[in-house]
Amino acid sequence: MIHCELLIVGCGPAGMMAAIYAKRADKDVVVLDRSTPGGRVLSTYQVDNYLGFGRVSAEELVAKMVTHLRDLGIEDRYGKVLAIDRTDAGFRVLTDNGDYLALAVIAATGTKSKPLGVPGEADFAGKGISYCAVCDGIFFKGKDVVVIGGGDSALEESNYLAGIAKSVVIVHDLPEFTAAAGLAARIRRNPNIRIHTSTAVIGFTGDRVLEGVTIRDKETGAESVLPAQGAFVYVGNFPETGYLAKTGAVGSDGFVAVDRDMHTKIPGLFAAGDVTKKDFRLIATAISDGAIAALSAVKYLDDLRKTE
Ligand SMILES: Cc1cc2nc3c(=O)[nH]c(=O)nc-3n(C[C@H](O)[C@H](O)[C@H](O)COP(=O)(O)OP(=O)(O)OC[C@H]3O[C@@H](n4cnc5c(N)ncnc54)[C@H](O)[C@@H]3O)c2cc1C
Repeated sequence: MIHCELLIVGCGPAGMMAAIYAKRADKDVVVLDRSTPGGRVLSTYQVDNYLGFGRVSAEELVAKMVTHLRDLGIEDRYGKVLAIDRTDAGFRVLTDNGDYLALAVIAATGTKSKPLGVPGEADFAGKGISYCAVCDGIFFKGKDVVVIGGGDSALEESNYLAGIAKSVVIVHDLPEFTAAAGLAARIRRNPNIRIHTSTAVIGFTGDRVLEGVTIRDKETGAESVLPAQGAFVYVGNFPETGYLAKTGAVGSDGFVAVDRDMHTKIPGLFAAGDVTKKDFRLIATAISDGAIAALSAVKYLDDLRKTE
């Protein structure tokens, strides 16, 4: 069992920012991630709404964040957290790479893509259906692809795919996009993108790999098949909170409720970033949460020491 004062689960923007503040307060901090640092920023190709960077590639932005971390002597460790338990001695954190005992924990594990839940989706996942354009887009160079969704992620990634694929069709089940107006306007001007609004995807077809996306016009009820070798699903996200089940900090929607100090209802357990219950999930809001969570955790640890 490895002991530490503060354990941060997740090395995305929220976890990295929290680690920096905790380290600067001279706390013994461990940052765990089941993957390379960067979180979901790495699932996009370009960011143009992060202060001070203008338009920057996601890879470069993450590299700068990681350099910042390393310059302060913070090394993230590999570890998929499986469960967290509160005991009298602190939080017992079970991972697939050793167990930890921490006096305080910050959960910064973000979200993962929600599946669409229609027939054929599971059959063609990885055989044409993807949830990450920047990871898989290149496999569809010169091919026809469909993007499902109408929010910021769907439209940003459609723009990216339009530069690679032969054609991009966006299928959105509402009459209007929910993405930022400027982004939606840019998409409408792109000659390589066609748009179907008020249209539901009802299935995926093909032999061994994806060949078509079946859609239904929600106004007329007419069904048709869009020929496509690739389909990218952006219809929302699930919180990554299964490992918190025993703590009682997770709400019925799976997100973690926190107060203004990013403290959950469990003393010593904080949360930051996309994993929390909130309206706006962005890099900017994640790092703000991370800073607040770390400062609150530092205060909690200092108060704990005073009562010893
Ligand atoms: C396609 C796409 C495009 C986007 N574009 C933009 C944009 O242009 N601008 C913008 O501001 N935001 C954008 N976002 C949103 C932004 O990426 C997120 O708001 C931000 O990454 C949230 O940071 P986070 O640290 O809370 O979570 P995440 O970035 O999701 O990081 C969570 C980390 O926790 C780790 N983790 C999860 N579970 C475990 C576990 N059990 N054990 C150990 N580690 C675990 C994950 O591996 C991950 O590294 C985009 C998101 C997507 C999906």
